[in-house]
Amino acid sequence: MSEKIYKTGETPEAGTYTCTNCGQKVTISQGDTMPPCPRCSNNEFTL
Ligand SMILES: [Zn+2]
Repeated sequence: MSEKIYKTGETPEAGTYTCTNCGQKVTISQGDTMPPCPRCSNNEFTL
């Protein structure tokens, strides 16, 4: 079982994503583009 990684610039489905580096939660609305992590500027998230 592996977790899918979502990257900055993708437009994933709406939800709350977690930074793989610092654990910061980022909430994305439908149609939004994934931003860099607001805390550490990491570009990878899990749902
Ligand atoms: Zn982060």
